[in-house]
Amino acid sequence: MKPVKIKFWGVRGSIPTPGHRTLRYGGNTACVEVQFPGCHRFILDAGSGIRELGKELLQLTEPVKAFIFISHFHWDHIQGLPFFKPAFVPGNHFVIFGCDEPHLPLNEIISMQMKPTFFPVSIEDMQARIEFRVVREETFTIDGVQVATKFVNHPGYALGYRFTFQGKSLVYVSDNEPFNSVFQEQPSLKDAEGVSVEERFESYVEDKVEDFVAFIRGCDVLIHDTQFLPEEYQEKVSWGHSPYNYTVELAVRAQVKQLVLFHHDPDHDDQTVDHILELSRRKLKEMGYDIPCIAAQEGSVLEF
Ligand SMILES: [Zn+2]
Repeated sequence: MKPVKIKFWGVRGSIPTPGHRTLRYGGNTACVEVQFPGCHRFILDAGSGIRELGKELLQLTEPVKAFIFISHFHWDHIQGLPFFKPAFVPGNHFVIFGCDEPHLPLNEIISMQMKPTFFPVSIEDMQARIEFRVVREETFTIDGVQVATKFVNHPGYALGYRFTFQGKSLVYVSDNEPFNSVFQEQPSLKDAEGVSVEERFESYVEDKVEDFVAFIRGCDVLIHDTQFLPEEYQEKVSWGHSPYNYTVELAVRAQVKQLVLFHHDPDHDDQTVDHILELSRRKLKEMGYDIPCIAAQEGSVLEF
């Protein structure tokens, strides 16, 4: 059977970071292309990396059809869309998946960044067929690929995606933070039954974690947020991102088969990403679970 092919077009979090400090891992924000054999393209997020992917798609002689899955609408996940040239070509067809918000439909969210105040070209100028499909926590099948979604711990509404095709599975969680990130400094309060807030919260957190672990369990490839070193995370609790040690523990607990570190911090140069990769590999070894682990690199391809 042909392998599933993953190509990383943007691996950076928060904001594009061009320059000599990020040459090796790349400065474009989140965009991952996935080709399941015999299917149309799946594109995960539309950060600035989608611009280069678009240029490659323009070289194809056939009309392009692709499914674009948006994790959430922070700029680093949608800012490349206005520069995605295949969307301006008649005959092409794109289906954009994402969560809506109360009183804010998905198509409106996507259109907003192309209003005249922000951008000179409107979404109505895109001549490809553009469809929108709202998703929440659910499971459905597109082009023979099963897609499952899960809300993750990130400010606003953010989704993780699990794709399963002919027994192979890929989980994409670009932005996510440990669920136990709050209440760390809170005083101990007890409820009417004498149970402390922390204990109640711990049991709630454990349920959430267990649910999330079940979502990623046993996947062949996990692409997950590893933006921070643990000491950085202490200063940035509730920003919605993970320190590498959490991601590694998650991968071990869920028995994933391969781990890809993703959403590199804009202030991390190539050496710092190397360092986080080395620490992650070391921790995996220490935990007795020595699976392949790489840091996502712009332009690189992973097959499984
Ligand atoms: Zn992000």
